[in-house]
Amino acid sequence: MRKARSATLLALAAAMAWPLAGQSNLRIYWVDVEGGAATLIVTPEGETVLMDAGWPGFEGRDAERIVRVLQGEIGASRLDYFISSHFHRDHTGGLEALAERIEIGRFVDHGDSVEIGWNERADQLWQSYVATAGDRRMRIEPGQRLPLASTDFLIVAARSQFLETPIGGNGPNPHCRDATSKAVDRGENGKSVGFLIRVGDFEFLDLGDLSWNFENETACPVNLFGEIDLYQVTHHGMHMSGAPAHVRSIKPVVAVMNNGPRKGGSPATYELLTSVPSLQDLWQVHRSVEGGDSHNPDERLIANLGETDGCEGHWLRADVQPDGSFTVTNSRNGFSKSYKPQ
Ligand SMILES: [Zn+2]
Repeated sequence: MRKARSATLLALAAAMAWPLAGQSNLRIYWVDVEGGAATLIVTPEGETVLMDAGWPGFEGRDAERIVRVLQGEIGASRLDYFISSHFHRDHTGGLEALAERIEIGRFVDHGDSVEIGWNERADQLWQSYVATAGDRRMRIEPGQRLPLASTDFLIVAARSQFLETPIGGNGPNPHCRDATSKAVDRGENGKSVGFLIRVGDFEFLDLGDLSWNFENETACPVNLFGEIDLYQVTHHGMHMSGAPAHVRSIKPVVAVMNNGPRKGGSPATYELLTSVPSLQDLWQVHRSVEGGDSHNPDERLIANLGETDGCEGHWLRADVQPDGSFTVTNSRNGFSKSYKPQ
């Protein structure tokens, strides 16, 4: 008993000591969950926020990969906030297994799943979430911030509602002239929680799996989100998201796509992203099989080159300096590249 307690105290001391060791970067990890999502933010003070926990099953594969980064890379003994972007299996499916492995402080969501009663799988996923979160749920709305020590973590989307006050200029958006619509989405994708992190001149935007027509709502007639330096490609780079009016308006400098070998990574999304003049690089968690030789970035910018079977689950990481400059690193090959915010 005493031994266990002192081990816990040591782990706590290690977690609390690291900001004093001269590391004051904000870090963002894209854990490879094979076409699901698991985006981990570590603040300069060592607070941890995870949006999404990958898939259920595979003997806890995705939870294991998240814990490996939390404990192995960060030295964290707990997760302060889990955000469910929306209630789909590739996002909240891995939560139960994660909660069995590590303590989680609060569970943040957009409200109850809108897919309750749609099918058995949706009901199971929802019941599992409610049982795991218990009385530690926290429903958030656009305009609210996560209560972090120094990091500006602004909720910009939730339950198909968006920021009321635009962040950038608020004139009419010229990119809206050619905006087109797709099929109406009444499901969970369109309810995705989205957030914006600001450090100096740097902005990081993650909109979960927000779907096309809602992306247009965030851009037209006024672009709500201003210009973004680092953009998590919405919906794993699937072509039912990635509305051009939105993507062109936010003018990303760097995009990170959390695709799987056969999930997301659509050639159409690749074409759009690489046509945006501001974009310097697209990084991908996986090489896209569908993308082939013509629609994938330089291999140095891809964390995992093969299929899911036998995949080692390499991650990507962004280190954001207090002045907003940032470096993206590939854990497979150690390749990294630095960028200035716009
Ligand atoms: Zn998804």
